[in-house]
Amino acid sequence: MTIDRPIRTARELAGAGLIDAKAEEAISRVASRYAVAITPAVAGLIDRDDPNDPIARQFVPDPTELTLSPEERVDPIGDGPHSPVTGIVHRYPDRVLLKAVHVCPVYCRFCFRREMVGPQGLGTLPAAELDAAINYIAGHRQIWEVILTGGDPLVLSPRRLQEILERLRAIEHVKVVRFHTRVPVVEPERIDADLTAALKASGKATYVALHANHPRELSAAARAAAARLIDAGIVMVSQTVLLKGVNDHPEVLADLMRGFVETRIKPYYLHHPDLAPGTGHFRLSIEEGQALAASLRGRVSGLCQPAYVLDIPGGHGKAVVSANAISSEGGGSYTITDFRGNPHSYPPKE
Ligand code: SF4
Repeated sequence: MTIDRPIRTARELAGAGLIDAKAEEAISRVASRYAVAITPAVAGLIDRDDPNDPIARQFVPDPTELTLSPEERVDPIGDGPHSPVTGIVHRYPDRVLLKAVHVCPVYCRFCFRREMVGPQGLGTLPAAELDAAINYIAGHRQIWEVILTGGDPLVLSPRRLQEILERLRAIEHVKVVRFHTRVPVVEPERIDADLTAALKASGKATYVALHANHPRELSAAARAAAARLIDAGIVMVSQTVLLKGVNDHPEVLADLMRGFVETRIKPYYLHHPDLAPGTGHFRLSIEEGQALAASLRGRVSGLCQPAYVLDIPGGHGKAVVSANAISSEGGGSYTITDFRGNPHSYPPKE
Protein backbone atom coordinates (compact mmCIF):
# COMPACT_ATOMS: atom_id res chain seq x y z
CA MET A 1 0.00 0.00 0.00
CA THR A 2 1.41 3.41 -0.95
CA ILE A 3 1.00 6.17 1.62
CA ASP A 4 1.70 9.58 0.11
CA ARG A 5 0.80 11.96 2.93
CA PRO A 6 0.90 11.88 6.75
CA ILE A 7 -1.68 9.76 8.56
CA ARG A 8 -3.45 11.83 11.23
CA THR A 9 -6.77 10.20 12.19
CA ALA A 10 -8.11 6.87 13.40
CA ARG A 11 -9.96 6.49 10.10
CA GLU A 12 -6.71 6.98 8.16
CA LEU A 13 -4.89 4.54 10.47
CA ALA A 14 -7.53 1.91 9.74
CA GLY A 15 -7.40 2.70 6.01
CA ALA A 16 -3.63 2.19 6.04
CA GLY A 17 -3.99 -1.16 7.81
CA LEU A 18 -2.24 0.13 10.94
CA ILE A 19 -5.17 -0.52 13.29
CA ASP A 20 -8.12 -2.86 13.18
CA ALA A 21 -11.31 -1.16 11.98
CA LYS A 22 -12.97 -2.35 15.22
CA ALA A 23 -10.44 -0.26 17.22
CA GLU A 24 -11.27 2.95 15.37
CA GLU A 25 -13.56 4.41 18.03
CA ALA A 26 -11.16 3.74 20.91
CA ILE A 27 -8.24 5.15 18.93
CA SER A 28 -10.29 8.24 18.00
CA ARG A 29 -10.60 9.00 21.71
CA VAL A 30 -6.81 8.85 22.07
CA ALA A 31 -6.31 10.97 18.94
CA SER A 32 -8.59 13.68 20.27
CA ARG A 33 -6.40 13.88 23.39
CA TYR A 34 -2.88 13.47 21.96
CA ALA A 35 -1.79 14.44 18.44
CA VAL A 36 -1.24 11.73 15.82
CA ALA A 37 0.99 11.92 12.75
CA ILE A 38 2.77 9.16 10.87
CA THR A 39 4.76 10.17 7.80
CA PRO A 40 4.90 8.00 4.67
CA ALA A 41 8.55 7.13 5.49
CA VAL A 42 7.54 5.83 8.93
CA ALA A 43 4.46 4.02 7.61
CA GLY A 44 6.81 2.27 5.17
CA LEU A 45 8.96 0.98 8.04
CA ILE A 46 6.06 -0.70 9.87
CA ASP A 47 5.62 -4.46 9.52
CA ARG A 48 1.84 -4.81 9.50
CA ASP A 49 2.11 -8.57 10.06
CA ASP A 50 3.89 -8.08 13.39
CA PRO A 51 1.44 -7.23 16.20
CA ASN A 52 4.43 -6.12 18.31
CA ASP A 53 6.20 -4.11 15.64
CA PRO A 54 8.64 -1.73 17.43
CA ILE A 55 8.10 1.08 14.90
CA ALA A 56 4.30 0.88 15.12
CA ARG A 57 4.54 0.87 18.91
CA GLN A 58 6.26 4.27 18.83
CA PHE A 59 3.75 6.01 16.56
CA VAL A 60 0.40 4.17 16.38
CA PRO A 61 -1.87 5.32 19.26
CA ASP A 62 -2.88 2.82 21.93
CA PRO A 63 -5.97 3.08 24.17
CA THR A 64 -3.64 2.57 27.17
CA GLU A 65 -2.52 6.17 26.67
CA LEU A 66 -5.69 7.33 28.40
CA THR A 67 -4.69 5.48 31.60
CA LEU A 68 -2.80 7.86 33.86
CA SER A 69 -0.55 6.94 36.80
CA PRO A 70 -0.24 9.14 39.89
CA GLU A 71 3.49 9.76 39.32
CA GLU A 72 2.97 11.11 35.78
CA ARG A 73 3.15 14.84 35.09
CA VAL A 74 1.99 17.26 32.42
CA ASP A 75 5.49 18.82 32.38
CA PRO A 76 7.64 15.80 33.31
CA ILE A 77 11.08 17.39 32.95
CA GLY A 78 10.04 20.74 34.42
CA ASP A 79 10.47 23.15 31.51
CA GLY A 80 7.98 25.60 33.07
CA PRO A 81 9.94 26.58 36.20
CA HIS A 82 13.01 27.37 34.06
CA SER A 83 11.31 29.44 31.39
CA PRO A 84 12.21 33.12 31.96
CA VAL A 85 10.48 34.18 28.71
CA THR A 86 8.18 32.24 26.40
CA GLY A 87 10.14 29.91 24.14
CA ILE A 88 13.29 29.81 26.30
CA VAL A 89 14.20 27.16 28.88
CA HIS A 90 17.29 28.19 30.84
CA ARG A 91 18.05 25.23 33.10
CA TYR A 92 21.87 25.12 33.02
CA PRO A 93 24.05 28.26 33.20
CA ASP A 94 25.76 28.11 29.79
CA ARG A 95 22.99 26.88 27.52
CA VAL A 96 19.33 27.45 26.69
CA LEU A 97 16.59 25.65 24.79
CA LEU A 98 14.93 27.78 22.12
CA LYS A 99 11.51 26.32 21.41
CA ALA A 100 10.47 28.12 18.23
CA VAL A 101 7.84 25.61 17.17
CA HIS A 102 5.69 22.96 18.86
CA VAL A 103 4.87 20.99 15.73
CA CYS A 104 6.46 17.66 14.72
CA PRO A 105 6.34 15.60 11.52
CA VAL A 106 5.40 12.57 13.66
CA TYR A 107 3.94 12.38 17.15
CA CYS A 108 5.71 9.86 19.35
CA ARG A 109 3.34 8.08 21.72
CA PHE A 110 5.82 8.46 24.63
CA CYS A 111 6.62 12.14 24.00
CA PHE A 112 7.76 14.03 27.10
CA ARG A 113 6.20 17.25 25.74
CA ARG A 114 2.98 15.62 24.54
CA GLU A 115 0.86 18.20 26.35
CA MET A 116 2.57 21.03 24.43
CA VAL A 117 3.06 19.70 20.89
CA GLY A 118 0.55 19.08 18.11
CA PRO A 119 -2.29 21.00 16.46
CA GLN A 120 -3.79 21.88 19.86
CA GLY A 121 -0.39 22.62 21.36
CA LEU A 122 1.62 25.82 21.68
CA GLY A 123 2.15 26.23 17.91
CA THR A 124 4.86 28.49 16.48
CA LEU A 125 6.37 31.27 18.55
CA PRO A 126 4.77 34.57 17.44
CA ALA A 127 7.19 37.28 16.16
CA ALA A 128 7.10 39.38 19.34
CA GLU A 129 7.84 36.36 21.54
CA LEU A 130 10.63 35.23 19.23
CA ASP A 131 12.11 38.74 19.51
CA ALA A 132 11.94 38.51 23.31
CA ALA A 133 13.57 35.06 23.25
CA ILE A 134 16.44 36.23 21.02
CA ASN A 135 16.85 39.36 23.17
CA TYR A 136 17.08 37.11 26.23
CA ILE A 137 19.92 35.13 24.61
CA ALA A 138 21.67 38.33 23.54
CA GLY A 139 21.35 39.76 27.06
CA HIS A 140 22.91 36.78 28.87
CA ARG A 141 26.60 36.57 28.11
CA GLN A 142 26.98 33.18 29.81
CA ILE A 143 24.90 31.49 27.07
CA TRP A 144 27.46 29.55 25.04
CA GLU A 145 25.08 27.10 23.34
CA VAL A 146 21.56 27.45 21.93
CA ILE A 147 19.58 24.23 21.46
CA LEU A 148 16.69 24.51 19.01
CA THR A 149 14.05 22.01 20.01
CA GLY A 150 10.30 22.02 20.31
CA GLY A 151 8.54 20.34 18.67
CA ASP A 152 10.90 19.62 15.84
CA PRO A 153 12.72 22.73 14.57
CA LEU A 154 13.38 21.11 11.20
CA VAL A 155 9.69 21.40 10.27
CA LEU A 156 10.33 25.13 9.82
CA SER A 157 10.99 26.25 6.26
CA PRO A 158 14.64 26.88 5.33
CA ARG A 159 13.82 30.58 4.97
CA ARG A 160 12.34 30.76 8.48
CA LEU A 161 15.24 28.81 10.00
CA GLN A 162 17.71 31.03 8.22
CA GLU A 163 16.07 34.15 9.65
CA ILE A 164 16.33 32.81 13.21
CA LEU A 165 19.90 31.59 12.76
CA GLU A 166 21.10 34.84 11.23
CA ARG A 167 19.91 36.56 14.37
CA LEU A 168 21.98 34.13 16.45
CA ARG A 169 24.97 34.80 14.19
CA ALA A 170 24.98 38.37 15.49
CA ILE A 171 25.30 37.24 19.13
CA GLU A 172 29.02 36.94 19.68
CA HIS A 173 28.96 34.94 22.94
CA VAL A 174 26.91 32.10 21.38
CA LYS A 175 29.46 29.65 19.98
CA VAL A 176 27.41 26.50 19.38
CA VAL A 177 23.97 25.85 17.87
CA ARG A 178 22.35 22.45 18.27
CA PHE A 179 19.13 21.10 16.72
CA HIS A 180 17.12 18.23 18.16
CA THR A 181 15.18 16.45 15.46
CA ARG A 182 13.63 13.29 14.13
CA VAL A 183 13.38 14.60 10.54
CA PRO A 184 16.32 12.69 8.95
CA VAL A 185 14.54 9.44 9.95
CA VAL A 186 10.87 10.31 9.59
CA GLU A 187 10.97 12.70 6.60
CA PRO A 188 14.44 12.22 5.07
CA GLU A 189 13.52 13.92 1.80
CA ARG A 190 13.21 17.17 3.75
CA ILE A 191 17.00 17.24 4.26
CA ASP A 192 17.84 18.93 0.98
CA ALA A 193 20.47 21.48 -0.02
CA ASP A 194 18.32 24.46 1.06
CA LEU A 195 17.62 23.09 4.53
CA THR A 196 21.23 22.00 5.03
CA ALA A 197 22.48 25.46 4.06
CA ALA A 198 19.91 27.12 6.35
CA LEU A 199 21.02 25.02 9.35
CA LYS A 200 24.52 26.45 8.99
CA ALA A 201 23.37 30.05 8.72
CA SER A 202 24.42 30.93 12.27
CA GLY A 203 28.08 30.52 11.31
CA LYS A 204 28.58 28.78 14.70
CA ALA A 205 29.66 25.20 15.32
CA THR A 206 26.48 23.36 14.27
CA TYR A 207 25.31 20.07 15.78
CA VAL A 208 22.26 17.96 14.94
CA ALA A 209 21.07 15.48 17.57
CA LEU A 210 19.05 12.76 15.86
CA HIS A 211 16.33 11.03 17.88
CA ALA A 212 15.97 7.36 16.86
CA ASN A 213 15.05 4.37 18.98
CA HIS A 214 15.22 1.24 16.83
CA PRO A 215 17.82 0.09 14.28
CA ARG A 216 15.16 -0.17 11.55
CA GLU A 217 14.71 3.60 11.75
CA LEU A 218 18.19 3.95 10.24
CA SER A 219 16.93 3.11 6.76
CA ALA A 220 18.99 3.74 3.63
CA ALA A 221 17.09 7.00 3.11
CA ALA A 222 17.70 8.11 6.71
CA ARG A 223 21.43 7.29 6.45
CA ALA A 224 21.65 9.23 3.19
CA ALA A 225 19.90 12.23 4.79
CA ALA A 226 22.35 12.15 7.70
CA ALA A 227 25.26 11.91 5.25
CA ARG A 228 24.05 15.07 3.50
CA LEU A 229 24.18 16.96 6.80
CA ILE A 230 27.53 15.52 7.88
CA ASP A 231 29.15 16.07 4.47
CA ALA A 232 28.07 19.71 4.76
CA GLY A 233 30.14 20.04 7.93
CA ILE A 234 27.43 19.48 10.55
CA VAL A 235 28.34 17.22 13.48
CA MET A 236 25.72 14.63 14.40
CA VAL A 237 25.05 12.96 17.74
CA SER A 238 22.21 10.65 18.72
CA GLN A 239 19.58 10.47 21.37
CA THR A 240 17.51 7.40 22.15
CA VAL A 241 14.71 6.84 24.62
CA LEU A 242 14.79 3.46 26.32
CA LEU A 243 11.32 2.04 25.68
CA LYS A 244 9.67 -1.21 26.71
CA GLY A 245 8.69 -3.21 23.63
CA VAL A 246 10.86 -1.08 21.32
CA ASN A 247 14.52 -1.33 22.30
CA ASP A 248 14.64 -3.04 25.72
CA HIS A 249 16.88 -5.82 24.44
CA PRO A 250 20.70 -5.83 24.45
CA GLU A 251 21.05 -6.88 20.80
CA VAL A 252 18.52 -4.31 19.55
CA LEU A 253 20.25 -1.56 21.47
CA ALA A 254 23.68 -2.73 20.26
CA ASP A 255 22.48 -2.77 16.62
CA LEU A 256 21.07 0.73 17.01
CA MET A 257 24.29 2.13 18.47
CA ARG A 258 26.37 0.40 15.79
CA GLY A 259 24.01 1.82 13.16
CA PHE A 260 24.56 5.34 14.47
CA VAL A 261 28.34 4.98 14.43
CA GLU A 262 28.30 3.44 10.91
CA THR A 263 26.33 6.54 9.88
CA ARG A 264 28.97 8.80 11.50
CA ILE A 265 26.56 9.77 14.29
CA LYS A 266 28.14 9.64 17.74
CA PRO A 267 25.83 8.01 20.34
CA TYR A 268 25.20 10.69 22.94
CA TYR A 269 22.20 10.11 25.22
CA LEU A 270 20.21 7.03 26.19
CA HIS A 271 17.26 8.53 28.08
CA HIS A 272 15.32 6.79 30.80
CA PRO A 273 11.69 7.37 29.75
CA ASP A 274 10.09 10.42 31.36
CA LEU A 275 6.94 10.42 33.50
CA ALA A 276 4.78 11.75 30.65
CA PRO A 277 1.01 11.23 30.96
CA GLY A 278 -0.30 7.88 29.71
CA THR A 279 3.12 6.39 28.94
CA GLY A 280 3.36 3.74 31.69
CA HIS A 281 3.30 0.93 29.10
CA PHE A 282 6.68 2.17 27.78
CA ARG A 283 8.46 2.49 31.10
CA LEU A 284 11.00 0.05 32.50
CA SER A 285 12.64 0.14 35.90
CA ILE A 286 15.91 1.92 36.60
CA GLU A 287 17.49 -1.49 37.31
CA GLU A 288 16.37 -2.80 33.90
CA GLY A 289 17.73 0.34 32.25
CA GLN A 290 21.05 0.03 34.07
CA ALA A 291 21.39 -3.62 33.00
CA LEU A 292 20.69 -2.67 29.36
CA ALA A 293 23.16 0.22 29.43
CA ALA A 294 25.77 -2.08 31.02
CA SER A 295 25.09 -4.71 28.32
CA LEU A 296 26.56 -2.31 25.75
CA ARG A 297 29.93 -2.31 27.50
CA GLY A 298 32.10 -5.02 25.98
CA ARG A 299 29.37 -5.93 23.47
CA VAL A 300 30.02 -2.89 21.27
CA SER A 301 32.91 -0.51 20.63
CA GLY A 302 33.65 2.39 22.94
CA LEU A 303 32.47 4.66 20.14
CA CYS A 304 28.99 3.13 20.51
CA GLN A 305 28.50 4.01 24.20
CA PRO A 306 25.84 6.63 25.03
CA ALA A 307 25.42 8.14 28.49
CA TYR A 308 22.39 6.62 30.25
CA VAL A 309 20.60 9.60 31.78
CA LEU A 310 17.42 10.54 33.55
CA ASP A 311 15.83 13.99 33.62
CA ILE A 312 15.05 14.60 37.27
CA PRO A 313 11.33 15.50 37.53
CA GLY A 314 10.74 19.10 38.56
CA GLY A 315 13.33 20.56 36.21
CA HIS A 316 16.48 19.66 38.13
CA GLY A 317 18.31 18.58 34.97
CA LYS A 318 19.86 15.37 33.74
CA ALA A 319 21.72 12.88 35.93
CA VAL A 320 23.77 9.93 34.73
CA VAL A 321 22.12 6.82 36.17
CA SER A 322 24.38 4.05 34.83
CA ALA A 323 25.16 1.31 37.36
CA ASN A 324 28.37 2.14 39.18
CA ALA A 325 31.26 -0.05 38.03
CA ILE A 326 33.36 0.99 41.02
CA SER A 327 32.78 0.81 44.77
CA SER A 328 35.03 1.93 47.61
CA GLU A 329 36.37 -0.66 50.07
CA GLY A 330 37.90 2.09 52.24
CA GLY A 331 41.54 2.97 52.74
CA GLY A 332 41.99 3.96 49.10
CA SER A 333 40.99 0.48 47.81
CA TYR A 334 38.21 -0.11 45.32
CA THR A 335 36.41 -2.97 43.64
CA ILE A 336 35.88 -2.50 39.91
CA THR A 337 33.52 -4.71 37.89
CA ASP A 338 34.57 -5.52 34.32
CA PHE A 339 32.19 -5.86 31.37
CA ARG A 340 31.80 -9.62 32.09
CA GLY A 341 30.59 -8.86 35.62
CA ASN A 342 33.85 -10.03 37.30
CA PRO A 343 35.13 -7.98 40.26
CA HIS A 344 38.76 -6.77 40.48
CA SER A 345 40.63 -4.95 43.24
CA TYR A 346 42.05 -1.53 42.45
CA PRO A 347 44.92 -1.04 42.98
CA PRO A 348 45.60 -4.78 42.43
CA LYS A 349 46.30 -6.62 45.72
CA GLU A 350 49.38 -8.59 44.48
S1 SF4 B 1 9.58 14.33 17.78
FE1 SF4 B 1 10.19 14.84 19.89
S2 SF4 B 1 8.84 16.56 20.52
FE2 SF4 B 1 7.94 15.59 18.67
S3 SF4 B 1 6.48 14.06 19.44
FE3 SF4 B 1 8.44 12.98 19.14
S4 SF4 B 1 9.47 13.10 21.16
FE4 SF4 B 1 7.83 14.67 21.14
